[in-house]
Amino acid sequence: MNDEPQRRPVFRRAALSVLSALFSAVLLGLVAMWFLLRPGGPLPDHWNPTKRLTIGAPVTVVTRLQMMRALDDVAECRSVLDQAGVVFDPMSDLEVDENCGIEGRGLLSTLPNSRMNRVETRCETALRLAMWEEHVVQPAAREVLGSEVAAITQIGSYNCRKMRTSRGTEGRWSSHAKANAIDITGVRLADGRQLSLLKDWDGDGPEAAFLRRIWRGSCDWFRLVLGPDYNQLHADHFHLENTGWGYCR
Ligand SMILES: [Zn+2]
Repeated sequence: MNDEPQRRPVFRRAALSVLSALFSAVLLGLVAMWFLLRPGGPLPDHWNPTKRLTIGAPVTVVTRLQMMRALDDVAECRSVLDQAGVVFDPMSDLEVDENCGIEGRGLLSTLPNSRMNRVETRCETALRLAMWEEHVVQPAAREVLGSEVAAITQIGSYNCRKMRTSRGTEGRWSSHAKANAIDITGVRLADGRQLSLLKDWDGDGPEAAFLRRIWRGSCDWFRLVLGPDYNQLHADHFHLENTGWGYCR
């Protein structure tokens, strides 16, 4: 015997009810999205992926998305920095050749809560640094050292040169050639203490614990980080880079 004729209507009814459930779910999702994301909606800006990044806001699952959008657009990047009180005086782009130059160029002299010796860099580097200072460096300083960081010391961002490795200079261009990296050597605390990677990286004290924590935390905000444990060339600085594949050592 053939029982197909009975099965077909059952199958059709099941398919229809799945479709209508899906349709209702999508509709409900759209209504919920409209309710949450509409201007004046109940969702705080730092949970709203359509809103501009605020550096000082708590970090949520949408922060990275907001940051990527600001990094893609120099005007938005500059205004996000402005809003956080970061001093990044605009300069015209530096155009050298295909390997060297600075897009979205400016002169960075303060971060959200600390000073920095002045450095010419690109907006992307300044913004990633600002996020690191706000969400990693200052909390670590308060918790581990009981003080704020008053200043961060750097030894350069833009440098039109090839990569340096322990084997010498390599053919590939350094990320510094487009100011896509910055080298950080230490911090000065509000209570006057000076910390440097060269003198404080090793050891069991709170200074070493602090430096290791801010090194590890920099990997959340930059895409490639090299520090004293990587090789002798980095014994005195963190190399924080915007480009790369998530390497952290
Ligand atoms: Zn470097």
